[in-house]
Amino acid sequence: MVNFDLNPTERAAINQEVFQSLETFFENTKYFSVAGQLNIEEVQAYAQQYDLKESVDPMTVIATAIEGLKKYAVHSPHPKYFGLFNPRASFLSTIADYITAVFNPQIASWSNAAYAVEIEQFLINEFGQKFGYPTNAIDGTFCTGGAESNLTAMLCALNECFPNFGVEGIRGIPKKPIIYCSGESHHSIAKAAKVTGLGVNSVVTIPVDADLRMDILLLKQQIKADIQAGHHPFMVVGTAGTTGAGAIDDLTEIGKISKAHQLWFHVDAAYGGAVTISSEYKKWIKGVETSDSITLDIHKWFSVPMGTSIFLTNNKHILHQTFGISTNYMPKDGDKEKITDPYIHSIQWSRRFNGLKLYLPLAVFGWKGYAEIIQHQINLGNALRAGLIKNGWIIQNDSKLPIVCFSHPDLETATDGVAKIVNKVVQSGKAWLSVYPIHGQPTIRACITNFASTLEDIEGLIELLEAYRIAH
Ligand SMILES: *Cc1c(COP(=O)(O)O)cnc(C)c1O
Repeated sequence: MVNFDLNPTERAAINQEVFQSLETFFENTKYFSVAGQLNIEEVQAYAQQYDLKESVDPMTVIATAIEGLKKYAVHSPHPKYFGLFNPRASFLSTIADYITAVFNPQIASWSNAAYAVEIEQFLINEFGQKFGYPTNAIDGTFCTGGAESNLTAMLCALNECFPNFGVEGIRGIPKKPIIYCSGESHHSIAKAAKVTGLGVNSVVTIPVDADLRMDILLLKQQIKADIQAGHHPFMVVGTAGTTGAGAIDDLTEIGKISKAHQLWFHVDAAYGGAVTISSEYKKWIKGVETSDSITLDIHKWFSVPMGTSIFLTNNKHILHQTFGISTNYMPKDGDKEKITDPYIHSIQWSRRFNGLKLYLPLAVFGWKGYAEIIQHQINLGNALRAGLIKNGWIIQNDSKLPIVCFSHPDLETATDGVAKIVNKVVQSGKAWLSVYPIHGQPTIRACITNFASTLEDIEGLIELLEAYRIAH
């Protein structure tokens, strides 16, 4: 039989080579092309190069995998990646991922992985307090991403507002259930409506105001109209940091409206929620404490590898009501008052210990360290705005978060002027950004999403944009 573990000498050699190879990438990320030119046939051939019949030397296969990841991907760890919220993963968070893989704790149940479950519970309590939930009311679960956290929120809302939902499902709901979110909210809300069986028509999109925030007056009118039409509004989603332009809804007002109409108020703070750890900037998301639940992605502004998000709620019984189930084969744990079994508290069953990716860097650097990282990125966002304005660019979004959407009068006359410049930047491999429409007009979107980005990177981006603008 093959030796699946290899032997100690082989393991030592592989550990050394892999760490050396990764160190080279860590140290020299900025010299890589941010994005490659992708040829579909070439990538497919590269992915299919082993016929899986003969055995191959492990170092050869590992080197192939590392090379493929270097060559055929957009490098979000690159300091000139100004794209979506994909971060550079901090070194300690990558080490956490490796440690987790080796121990492979099964954190479905407390008794199987007590320490791991308690770490996640500890982090949930800490974040719940940061967001202003009462200490004794905090509950939550780790999820794989904002999409799963938002889906968890929708399921909790359904179970809270329709107590028989777990038994009868949507067939037990007499009136048409309605969810509200803004036209700028993330499409995982619509997806959650599909997955829950409600269907996308249950999601009513409220138009945004000039600053891309949910129009509160229109929300109130829509709720009245829906109730009059015999529907049953049950949930509203406010966004704290929209994916496109970083807008933050008026959470205080939405909170009040939710109370008045008994709606479950969920705040999708996947990205922007990170400011809750900053004593200076947490006021930007004021009102979040009036919510029933919150989505906070850890694999965005907290700079850890993919697969990590937190769902928080101040409703102690709802996760159990929503996900509880009883089995004969799972371990029976003792004191239900003191401990939580994640499998009856969340969508997942077998689950990965994703909390360690957050715990290691947070324990090492503390909230203070993370606050510095956030401050640094906010500073760079401000520097980018100032530098663009100096060169005649116009900022089209009103956000204090480091997401800058901009255009230039010169580009307005040209067809696809914005898209052409973005394509040129991306194809150059020197930086990465995207196009986002603001009130129907295309703009260039640059987000500082990497703690390793520097002022020189911002200056480099502006130079690049200027060069392509002048040449266009
Ligand atoms: C990224 C994002 C999501 C989706 O989160 P994933 O982690 O990609 O699943 C949801 N809402 C907002 C506001 C986001 O920015």
